[in-house]
Amino acid sequence: MSKQLLSVTFHLTHHCNLRCDYCYTGEKLPISMTNQTLLQAVQFVQNEVDRRKIKQLDITFFGGEPLLEKEKIFQIIDLLDQSLEDISIHYKLSTNGTLLSDKLVQQLFAKKVYMSLSLDGDPSVTDNQRKNAAGKGVTHQIVKGLQLLLKYNKSTNVTCVITPESAGKVAESIDYIFEQGVRFITTTLDYSADWEVEHFDQLKRSYIKLGRWYEQKIKMGERFYLSFFDERIQTRTHKPIAKSERCHIGQRQFSIAPNGELYPCIQFVTTEGIPEYLIGHINTGFDESCTSYITNCSEKPKAECSGCALESRCSKWCSCVNYMSTGRIDKASPIVCYNERILIEIVDKTADRLWKSRNNLFVHKHYNSDYPVISHLELNL
Ligand code: SF4
Ligand code: SF4
Repeated sequence: MSKQLLSVTFHLTHHCNLRCDYCYTGEKLPISMTNQTLLQAVQFVQNEVDRRKIKQLDITFFGGEPLLEKEKIFQIIDLLDQSLEDISIHYKLSTNGTLLSDKLVQQLFAKKVYMSLSLDGDPSVTDNQRKNAAGKGVTHQIVKGLQLLLKYNKSTNVTCVITPESAGKVAESIDYIFEQGVRFITTTLDYSADWEVEHFDQLKRSYIKLGRWYEQKIKMGERFYLSFFDERIQTRTHKPIAKSERCHIGQRQFSIAPNGELYPCIQFVTTEGIPEYLIGHINTGFDESCTSYITNCSEKPKAECSGCALESRCSKWCSCVNYMSTGRIDKASPIVCYNERILIEIVDKTADRLWKSRNNLFVHKHYNSDYPVISHLELNL
């Protein structure tokens, strides 16, 4: 029987030292979780763990930029570790990487915090969309932070955000990130951007190039994970992601805003707040009618997907993505739809070529149920 799991995200501040073009978190104001709210939030999580008989707790630190409130990260970890010593707790931190120092990375790793950051490609791509408050690109600072993380953890994950402006350079961007030493790469689109048909044409050409890149790296014996390709190969070689394995918005996961408000997922925590997706407060608990309404909307079959041959493989079930793209969680995002149709075809062709050549690594990667656990271990040996 799988462990009873709960995922909680602490949004420690609305502030950030960067001003990324695609940031959805709202105005950057120095509004952080107070010490009193932090203590109440930790107590709330402890109560939820007891009430739900949780065996595994995943805690993520998020912002704004959570490292602006680094002392609070350690405070929360110490409080939870002391009070919940009978359950398994995993800590994650999502950072822009620009505030990392060697000492801080060591301190966070000593507390077993798994860190990930975003890098969108080489300076010509990243500097264009990720800037500091003065409007200056910050690629070199991100790469410096990334090298510190890789020094202590070769399995560090990097998220690459693809925007309409960078759609034509996806293969080059992934190659740049790979060349930094990263072997776990998560790819995502900027779902709130204005995507035009021409951008999808560029994406298609990029994915064809990326398919060749993926094939070549596998043939060279490189062990890595690239979410856009590996997730879709998995849903082809194994089976679609089971409904029970998908995120359950507002049920097995929730976010705590700096002011103690509860939201169903990270995308709904903004400086201004999104009242229609507010599901409670740490002082008063969950508003069950709001959480059930959101869960029902989220899990309802999407009318626009009825009869689609890709339905069991498509990522349209992510409510946050649907919200960012359409403003609604019960409506499939047209951006997801375009992207999946282009991507799945190219991924399948790439996988076909590798399967036909009976590439050992490809077979190991996609038909050995221990992957990617094995590769994490191998990378850290
Ligand atoms: S680093 Fe994150 S929180 Fe800060 S501006 Fe960029 S996307 Fe927003
Ligand atoms: S979003 Fe598009 S590709 Fe995905 S299941 Fe719906 S119709 Fe099919």
